[in-house]
Amino acid sequence: MAERMLKFIKVERSMPEKRDVESRAQDFHEIYRDFIDAKAREQASRCSQCGVPFCQTHCPLHNNIPDWLRMTAEGRIREAHELSSATSAMPEVCGRICPQDRLCEGNCVIEQSGHGTVTIGAVERYINDKAWEEGWVQPLQPAVERKQSIGIVGAGPAGVAAADLLRQRGYQVTIYDRYDRAGGLMIYGIPSFKLEKDVVERRMKRLADGGVTFRLGFEVGRDASLDEVRSWHDAVLIATGVYKARELALPGVGDKGVVAALDYLTASNRTGLGDSVEAFESGELDAKGKDVVVIGGGDTAMDCVRTAIRQGAKSVTCLYRRDRANMPGSMREVANAEEEGVVFEWLAAPKAVLGDASGVTGVRAARMRLGAPDASGRQAPEEVPDADFDLPAQLVIKALGFDPEDLPTLFGAPELKVSRWGTIKADFRTLMTSLDGVFAAGDIVRGASLVVWGLRDGRDAGEAIDTYLQSKADVRAPALAAAE
Ligand SMILES: Cc1cc2nc3c(=O)[nH]c(=O)nc-3n(C[C@H](O)[C@H](O)[C@H](O)COP(=O)(O)OP(=O)(O)OC[C@H]3O[C@@H](n4cnc5c(N)ncnc54)[C@H](O)[C@@H]3O)c2cc1C
Ligand code: SF4
Repeated sequence: MAERMLKFIKVERSMPEKRDVESRAQDFHEIYRDFIDAKAREQASRCSQCGVPFCQTHCPLHNNIPDWLRMTAEGRIREAHELSSATSAMPEVCGRICPQDRLCEGNCVIEQSGHGTVTIGAVERYINDKAWEEGWVQPLQPAVERKQSIGIVGAGPAGVAAADLLRQRGYQVTIYDRYDRAGGLMIYGIPSFKLEKDVVERRMKRLADGGVTFRLGFEVGRDASLDEVRSWHDAVLIATGVYKARELALPGVGDKGVVAALDYLTASNRTGLGDSVEAFESGELDAKGKDVVVIGGGDTAMDCVRTAIRQGAKSVTCLYRRDRANMPGSMREVANAEEEGVVFEWLAAPKAVLGDASGVTGVRAARMRLGAPDASGRQAPEEVPDADFDLPAQLVIKALGFDPEDLPTLFGAPELKVSRWGTIKADFRTLMTSLDGVFAAGDIVRGASLVVWGLRDGRDAGEAIDTYLQSKADVRAPALAAAE
């Protein structure tokens, strides 16, 4: 083994090649090219196979990274894929969009020793894309069929990870989603230059082919109450994500030309999927030819600035009130945005949107500096007097994060307990909510987070529901019992 591994001293870290800036700014295709076989094997061979794999402990799914890296280095790609997919419902998605610098790669031992991390995400993407190409991805085929049924509200990562596990164990699974396509934010939030849609769609097809029923365009709270959904199933999982956009309280914010990040990204993603979107066609949600200002410093803001570049904006500026070191978005995404021509105004906070009812013309911003650390140790931004400046803008995008919707009211279920932030309270061991047989997972429990955490929470919820149903094995779904 030793001669095939531990090559980090001789072999430099290298990522798959990035497409050049000019060509990638013209389209919405992913920006990294595929690893060729030899490159993936070479990069995997840099792993030091250390005794305590911090990469694995810092991966939310606890993926068995050192073992699948070794298998890749040895050319055992099919086995590497099997091992990697044993712990992840969507490894090729995580390989593309996990912020690896904060998770597995940021904690790689050879990164800590100054040799540059093993490119774990890129290898994970390679082995699992190869598996799809070669037809190694196994269909969902339960060994037994069980009569009990589970209703899952939300077809995002948390809902589909739970569906995958529960269907594999033979349960009858129905997923309800208010969107017309399954995938949650992987379809309508995250742009295709990070995650192409067919990568998500083939996973959804695998679930449907394996017997999972999708009821799309079905909104719980509008088309049925939570109680009705409960009456159709033996257990219910709420995995609805968080969608209430945080507002900006500034003069001029109600004017034409000030839009919410998710409306903007959804229109762009829908257009890319071939839908006709009126607000995009009218120009309201299209950045073409405009000066664009995006307010916020997280990954959603990064997706907006890079989408605006691809739509042909005249200029794109990101306003963030702290400095580069303190921004919440992934550094890799900031670097990609800068390469593509986005201007970052660090330490700048919006004070007013300029213009009138006919449209915005600009944004007035205050210059900020970082003051004394607060109780959490984070330096609070404070305004520098008399240092305001104006930026031209015909499109202003608000990307300040998301909070949960008021689910107890929307679902007609006042007894569903939520935290003071509006996230659903689920018991930390059973993952059950305050309602018997109703579980919750993903962003709606954790708050806005990551796909990989959604997958982890969905998998845990699937296990918890299995345990609950096994303990009630004599309970039958009313509809199925009637059919017997
Ligand atoms: C713009 C953007 C970019 C992001 N980029 C990344 C990234 O690069 N990497 C990363 O790891 N994470 C990223 N995230 C975060 C990630 O997408 C989420 O953390 C993850 O999708 C949460 O999964 P979930 O299953 O909890 O919810 P979601 O993905 O939000 O899915 C919830 C589903 O529930 C449905 N739903 C909601 N209410 C109802 C109802 N009443 N009835 C029926 N259906 C309902 C919704 O339509 C949706 O399909 C990004 C998020 C955004 C907004
Ligand atoms: S799932 Fe994410 S954190 Fe885990 S190994 Fe893959 S890229 Fe790293």
